Amino acid sequence: MRFFLRLLGLGILLLLVVLAVNTLRLPSYQLTGVAPAPAVPLADSALARLAGAVRIPTISTTDYAQTDTAQFGRFGRYLRQAFPKVFAQLKLEKFNNYGLLFTWAGTNPALKPVLLLGHYDVVPVLPGTEGKWAHPPFAGIQADGYLYGRGTLDDKASVLAQLEAVEYLLGTGFRPARTVLLAFGHDEETLGQRGAGAMAAELGRRGVRPEFLLDEGGLVKTDGVPGVQRPVALVGISEKGYLTLELTATGQGGHSSMPPAQTSIGELAAAVLKLEQHPFPARLDADNHLLDYLASEVPLGQRLAFANRWLFAPLIMKKMAGTAAGNATLRTTTAPTMLRAGAKENVLAIDATATINFRLLLGDSVAGVVREVRRIIADEKIRIKILPNSSAPSPVSDPAAAPFQQLHRTIRSVFPEAIVAPYAVVGATDARQYAALSPNVYRFLPAQMNQEAIESMHGSNERLPVANYPRMVQFYATLIRNSQ
Ligand SMILES: [Zn+2]
Repeated sequence: MRFFLRLLGLGILLLLVVLAVNTLRLPSYQLTGVAPAPAVPLADSALARLAGAVRIPTISTTDYAQTDTAQFGRFGRYLRQAFPKVFAQLKLEKFNNYGLLFTWAGTNPALKPVLLLGHYDVVPVLPGTEGKWAHPPFAGIQADGYLYGRGTLDDKASVLAQLEAVEYLLGTGFRPARTVLLAFGHDEETLGQRGAGAMAAELGRRGVRPEFLLDEGGLVKTDGVPGVQRPVALVGISEKGYLTLELTATGQGGHSSMPPAQTSIGELAAAVLKLEQHPFPARLDADNHLLDYLASEVPLGQRLAFANRWLFAPLIMKKMAGTAAGNATLRTTTAPTMLRAGAKENVLAIDATATINFRLLLGDSVAGVVREVRRIIADEKIRIKILPNSSAPSPVSDPAAAPFQQLHRTIRSVFPEAIVAPYAVVGATDARQYAALSPNVYRFLPAQMNQEAIESMHGSNERLPVANYPRMVQFYATLIRNSQ
């Protein structure tokens, strides 16, 4: 007995030593001693130019035929008068009329180009929510230190700040050694085939292989992440996959006075309920790099857990699964988004259809998810249709690669108060269209936002802190300079 107690004691001691050693050996990934970025003197008119861009309602609608494309044309003309040097000195090509690709030819054609992405279409304002806006969504009004409007964060600030940076650099006589490409799509909010898809395909045909590319995605989160009280600059190095399924149950129809035991609506509802009750399994591995980068920045207890994920993964996952945002980073998510059935209150529906949107965790596949959905529903009478535009999770860009370190350095030079951390983006960005062109695909918008501001992006009161805008321009100018 005593022997076993001793053995147990020894085992516990050994475990503690392993935990402690793992915790103490944890490196900090933060670059230190980074010099502040040179200032970019910005005229007051810069913010006015952004406000002017917000006033053009470049709204994407799911049905492209319903989209007011005249606004896209207007937006292009607006940019031309706002950024005369860019339009005079860079080459502009258009794709499907409104996708804008600018080429700033480098002096050394042997170097790989840099590709900066953005989109200037915006999501509509949900009918009925107009009253929730403190200022109208397409008025470009500045108040209480913010510029209000749809697109101020997603993603016109990025497009305008990139152009502002290039206009400024052109004015200083700067000439890049590497070619700088700017690609702005006009249909990102409706999956981006006409803009980013067309531009990416053409760049691929031309054999363009960028050193790195940068799109929106992460941001400087001013209220930190759980456990980290400082601002965190989150840089997306991967993004989840995308899949929409339509489930259809078919009944006999007929008069509702003599219904069968099971109707198409009942059968479909049961299938949807099963999917909600059987979420895809949680895994922690998609965000390994994030946890590595955060580990040295969090309090000791949390650090111990992050450094010993072989033991504490279930505990970490349990904590993360508590919020919708945390849960989305842990698993392939299941979101029923639309229902369609029936035409009259006293007539049985024939077809009942549910639309379910899935966001695929790294490591999962479209075919695998469809297989799993069939297994969970376990009802052969339900037809499953895969809607177009599904995509597998993106590859993961290596944060140890030189371009990531360069980006890290640039972020630290413009936002010295923030720590930098790579992570997996849960939404879809245009970047996935370009993923085949470069192993170094980054998703980062140099905007400072708290959780509330993030939620405003497709919601009400989308707004950019006015003080943030000069730093956005400074970030892009510094990135272009640094990447030479
Ligand atoms: Zn966007």
